[in-house]
Amino acid sequence: MEMDDHKRRRNLILYVLIAILVYMVLSTVLFPNIKTGGMEVEDVTYSQLLKDLDRKKVDEIRYTTDDAQALYTLKGEEKKAYRTTTMPTDVDLTNRIEEAGAELKVTIPEQDSGMWLYLLITFAPIIIFMLLGWWLNRRMKKAMSEDNPSMDFSGGGFGGFGGGNLGKSGARIVASKDVGVTFKDVAGQEEAKESLKEVVDFLENPKRYEDIGAKLPRGALLVGPPGTGKTLLAKAVAGEAGVPFFSISGSEFVEMFVGRGAAKVRDLFKQAKEKAPCIVFIDEIDTIGKKRDGGGFSGNDEREQTLNQLLTEMDGFDNQKGIVVLAATNRPDSLDAALLRPGRFDRRVPVELPDLAGRKAILELHSKDVKTQPPIDLTAIARSTPGASGADLANIINEGALRAVRLGKTRATQEDFEESVEVVIAGQQRKSTVLSDHEKQVVAYHEIGHAIVAARQKGSAPVTKITIVPRTSGALGYTMQVEEDERFLTTKQEVLDKLAVYCGGRAAEELIFGEMTTGAANDIEQATKLARNMITRFGMSEEFGMMALGTVQNAYLNQDTSLTCAPGTAERVDAAVLKLISEAHERAMQLLKENKFKLHELAHYLYKKETITGEEFMNLLSRENPLMPKA
Ligand code: ADP
Ligand code: MG
Ligand code: ZN
Repeated sequence: MEMDDHKRRRNLILYVLIAILVYMVLSTVLFPNIKTGGMEVEDVTYSQLLKDLDRKKVDEIRYTTDDAQALYTLKGEEKKAYRTTTMPTDVDLTNRIEEAGAELKVTIPEQDSGMWLYLLITFAPIIIFMLLGWWLNRRMKKAMSEDNPSMDFSGGGFGGFGGGNLGKSGARIVASKDVGVTFKDVAGQEEAKESLKEVVDFLENPKRYEDIGAKLPRGALLVGPPGTGKTLLAKAVAGEAGVPFFSISGSEFVEMFVGRGAAKVRDLFKQAKEKAPCIVFIDEIDTIGKKRDGGGFSGNDEREQTLNQLLTEMDGFDNQKGIVVLAATNRPDSLDAALLRPGRFDRRVPVELPDLAGRKAILELHSKDVKTQPPIDLTAIARSTPGASGADLANIINEGALRAVRLGKTRATQEDFEESVEVVIAGQQRKSTVLSDHEKQVVAYHEIGHAIVAARQKGSAPVTKITIVPRTSGALGYTMQVEEDERFLTTKQEVLDKLAVYCGGRAAEELIFGEMTTGAANDIEQATKLARNMITRFGMSEEFGMMALGTVQNAYLNQDTSLTCAPGTAERVDAAVLKLISEAHERAMQLLKENKFKLHELAHYLYKKETITGEEFMNLLSRENPLMPKA
């Protein structure tokens, strides 16, 4: 388990609080005011002392030479002491004390027996702090290694307190046998595994490569969308080769203190050289490896220094030793070109979203340890999750198992997994949202509107499920469509059909209720994005043809497109987008008008049942409607 910052901070606060508490308790209970031995002390004037001496009431005087203080007790008063702080050093006083029959104790500081106590008081808290820090650190290490034997507690946080550790990089050092991940644990991703096998082979037999004079890439960059298994693959390489795995995340480099990032890099590589052959893995390298700006006050000096240090280190090590630097990112387009030069991360390993077969393999792998109730059809689940990452799929299996437990079952069923697909895609069912009767009707017509438009067009994916049970994501209902096979290309007609399906919900509301609701917000957003892409990226408009009008900013994240055309052109693009959407809306409306009876019938059915399958929908749709006039 990785210890996140939050937890670390919480522990630190706790630990400081405990230390302060211990100090306070110790200093009040164990060491009450030492000089007075726990007695009540009253400050008095020097003349008061003289008076008390004259009356022969003084029992004992303790006189400290260095601060001209005297502390004295009176006869018959055990619990009380008097203190005077302005003692003149006169010989006469000594005589008077003798005359008064009081006992005089003079303390010369060097021989002060209290000195040890003073020292103890001064240093005890520090010692306690250090012991406590050490103890907590050890406990945490132990807890973490019990949690997950493959990871060592990364230093830096607490470890820094005891000294010694301050300059360490905090890279997690893991013995190879503990990585516990091999290629077997990565499903799909065959191409990625194939190109990483060479790295494994190199780490296993560096001699073979050396003999023939081949240089292996020092670094490989794993690029792909989040959750596709990049981190997993890097670990698997170390696991396969049986070499140590140093892992650090780019964000860990960028720290508060200037110069720490670069020092970390230096330290990381120093450790790596000692343990070679090994793998150094830098996760989220884009945090440090962003393109450097051309100077000026970037305010990001720290990051730049770290990056420079990394480049220096990568050039510096002689690769006969067998250090392979792997890095992962989901923003390859933002990386500094210097990182991608030969001799650095010159090899790119794409780790893409899994296709149908890949998704099935991942689902199979993750459901291996889950007790299931046959029949289980993972192909169906894989088919209904295009665009899902490996992490999403792992999550779907786990959510399914959790649902089974929630329902008091001992085995997960197909239904559990199907429901969890929806949970992962659309959010948890929210039974507590109470829609008014009218709202429920509107949502039912809206969803059936989508479904009928989809069913009545050739290029639309079949409807597999329609529901008006609200979701925690805010959706009040949705219509699920699943392509029959994996799609890599979409024709213009199919895109147009899809646009019409998006418009179908709103069109149904208008047709039946003659009003508009806010429920179509998401449809509108999707439709607009699609229409804009048709024009600016897919070259599907007559007006602009194959002219690229935008560039994709972030291929692996949200595919944001930014326009690269003149402002005048942008206006025409907007007009063309509007036209596409209006036409799609028109088409949807037309289809719904033609199927108005079916719309009523199906909406009523959905209203009553709340969730219907694609099969039910198609049966009802193709059934002859007794209300409908014969064609
Ligand atoms: P990334 O680093 O690409 O964001 P991770 O490697 O952290 O993704 O993957 C997150 C989790 O998703 C993994 O721990 C694993 O459980 C699951 N996962 C992702 N891809 C795969 C895959 N190809 N095979 C098996 N599990 C996968
Ligand atoms: Mg990752
Ligand atoms: Zn809708």
